[in-house]
Amino acid sequence: MNHKYEVLIIGGGVVGCAIARELSKYRVSAALLEKEMDVGMGASCRNSGVLHAGFKYAPGSLRARVAVKGNALMDDLCRDLKVKIKRIGKLTVGLDEEDEPTLRHLKEQGDTNGVPGLRVIGREEMQKIQPGVEGYIALHSPSSSIISPYSLTIGLAENALANGVNFHLGQRVESISQQPEKGWHVRTAAGEIFEAQVIINAAGLYSADVSRMAGVDGYTIYPCRGEYYVLDKRLNGTLTALIYPAPKKNAPGWGTHLTPTVDGNILIGPTAQYIKEPENHACTPDILRRLRIEGQKLLPAIQVSDYIRNFAGIRAKQTPPEVGGNKDFVIEDRKDVKGFINLVGLESPGLTASPAIAQMVVEMVGNHLSLVPDPSFNPVRPGSSDFFSELSAEEKADLVAKDPNYGEIICRCEKITKKEILDAINNPLGARTIVSLKYRARASMGRCQGGFCIPRIVRLLRDEFGWRPEDFLKRGVDSPLFVGNVRPEGGQA
Ligand SMILES: Cc1cc2nc3c(=O)[nH]c(=O)nc-3n(C[C@H](O)[C@H](O)[C@H](O)COP(=O)(O)OP(=O)(O)OC[C@H]3O[C@@H](n4cnc5c(N)ncnc54)[C@H](O)[C@@H]3O)c2cc1C
Repeated sequence: MNHKYEVLIIGGGVVGCAIARELSKYRVSAALLEKEMDVGMGASCRNSGVLHAGFKYAPGSLRARVAVKGNALMDDLCRDLKVKIKRIGKLTVGLDEEDEPTLRHLKEQGDTNGVPGLRVIGREEMQKIQPGVEGYIALHSPSSSIISPYSLTIGLAENALANGVNFHLGQRVESISQQPEKGWHVRTAAGEIFEAQVIINAAGLYSADVSRMAGVDGYTIYPCRGEYYVLDKRLNGTLTALIYPAPKKNAPGWGTHLTPTVDGNILIGPTAQYIKEPENHACTPDILRRLRIEGQKLLPAIQVSDYIRNFAGIRAKQTPPEVGGNKDFVIEDRKDVKGFINLVGLESPGLTASPAIAQMVVEMVGNHLSLVPDPSFNPVRPGSSDFFSELSAEEKADLVAKDPNYGEIICRCEKITKKEILDAINNPLGARTIVSLKYRARASMGRCQGGFCIPRIVRLLRDEFGWRPEDFLKRGVDSPLFVGNVRPEGGQA
């Protein structure tokens, strides 16, 4: 099948979705191609969910500029998209005098980058912000915050869709060619053809490959995996700020730290390990053991029963293991390849920076197409950022009176109602894997990790769509949930 657009975005991570939403403010025909069955299946939903302040990046670098600007854009964006954000601030803690010059340097760098409110503080003040934290000195950054990375990515995509951008899920871009007068010709593994005047490469771990497909060589991505533990909500409230160790020179990440999530869990991690296969998300016993030991040192209250899950995310690094550290983001409107906007190596803080990157990219699109604002653009996504369980008793009673499906709990750990699951099932993007529902409704994110709710969700999906066992997928086409019936339908036990 052939599709024709003015602009095509390749990759439905937080960056691609932010670009889609920014473009939807204009009268432009645009679409996003994503190889997975939902948006956000790459690094964008597998990270710490931290909005970085921007003091760690070299002054004048693109990373510094888009981090500081992206962070500042988040309050309005999250309000409009109904995404949870908590401005809890961060303490970057130096354990002894040796760390003091590093922290003072970070403060100076942050001031130059335009980071608001940075202060170097002593032990007493540090402990007022986070009781019990141990350290000699700390850098306090009030604009460091936490956010739901799933809600942000999905919210951006849904709002872009509502404003006219088409989303083609399950479409892996396989080849790209440019034809004189006709523009770009993009073919996907499903055999679909997409034509466009401008293409935007936001393919994350595969950004160097997509770049090569469009005729731009010279980039390499070195996948670097970060593993995490997720802790039970029993410890919710233990951390009142983000606590990071003072960074060490050329380290590939921040070092192990504890991060509270907006939903009340705590993450331990991420680690940093270069890997060969770009999408090997497996966690490893040795690293998990290390995380348990380091986590326990940072927060002695952790009990064995608090570890409810582990997961990994993979950074799209441009620096090989022997070099370490980071390179600056590549965001370029290629002069040698007309109509190719190339984004490579958007490792951290791509989540924080996504709205600023989107503005920059759309300005570049304006070099190729005339961008006329669309007066019908609606920035607001319907719904609420709160789950039913977070509402007051009166609000809950009102909702149950309006729709009895609010009165039935499907996910017992997270207290997610049948109505919330049905809303997730009927999401505008039509993404219906178990992981898609988990990212939207939080079902199966609690202690039992789906033991109670997944059979009930399966029943809801079967009733809604008449699915056969083979139709249920965990994450994508390669992860079937069932292989068939144990006994023939209507058969005897
Ligand atoms: C462990 C870890 C922790 C992090 N913590 C933070 C943090 O706290 N704060 C922060 O700001 N940033 C953080 N980051 C960085 C942040 O997650 C990334 O910068 C951001 O998610 C990048 O978004 P993206 O859209 O570029 O990439 P992705 O989310 O990877 O999206 C790329 C998309 O392109 C799709 N794709 C690839 N190839 C093709 C193809 N050929 N055809 C179609 N689709 C394709 C992929 O399936 C994917 O969905 C962290 C990253 C990691 C790994």
